[in-house]
Amino acid sequence: MLKICGQCGATLSRYNTGSYCFPCQEKRIAEKISDRPYYDLDEMQYILGLDHPESVKRLGRKGMIPGKIPVIKEHRYFKDAVDEWIHSGGKANQWNQPLESSFVISIRDTGGTVLEDATRDTETRKVGKLVAFTLGNSSENVMIVEKICLEVQRCQPYDYAPGIGVRLYPFRYEVELCPQPGEYVVTEERFKYGRYDADDFDVVCMSPHGVEYAMRLNVYWSDLVTKKAFASHSDTFRICFGKPGGRRLPLAVYE
Ligand SMILES: [Zn+2]
Repeated sequence: MLKICGQCGATLSRYNTGSYCFPCQEKRIAEKISDRPYYDLDEMQYILGLDHPESVKRLGRKGMIPGKIPVIKEHRYFKDAVDEWIHSGGKANQWNQPLESSFVISIRDTGGTVLEDATRDTETRKVGKLVAFTLGNSSENVMIVEKICLEVQRCQPYDYAPGIGVRLYPFRYEVELCPQPGEYVVTEERFKYGRYDADDFDVVCMSPHGVEYAMRLNVYWSDLVTKKAFASHSDTFRICFGKPGGRRLPLAVYE
């Protein structure tokens, strides 16, 4: 039985794991879905024309989609690997990951409110915001992390009232932000990551009231053997510090 493309009706090649022919998949990757270096589950489902995200996971587990990032729980695929695979009509399914893209930063959660002392009034108590992330080495090499920084890319006034706090101090990593762009050091401790190692981090950020930040994580690391140094960046995310007495957030919006 010959499978045909769900988009244009062309006969699918035997290399094809999706429901669309490779030319139709090429049109989808040409849309420049995002600026990130990987495709997530929804994007892979869209490119391959599959009905269900579980189908992508199944193909990924069988190793039929090249470039799966091994160290984090989310299903992600290196864009370079997937693009090369589709351009080659499914033949290029072995991919050698370039070293510079093998350090993975995955933001797990941002913006949760952390209170120093929930019993004090909102004007005087210290309020922190949580940035939770995972760092991982998706290569066979040993990597040394030299420094982890938060980079404030933009900031602007934030007029809404603070949200409700959930967790308490202390956290191992704390960063005091001020409302201006720049890099803030989270830690200069060195960490060693062997093959496929990953670690979870929780950082709490403090700031004056009433500021919204757009920021990202920068991780500086080197390869143990070659001593080559690299910098990896997370996606940009937003953190808001409410203003006591500020406007109430509309119901449809959350921090
Ligand atoms: Zn087609």
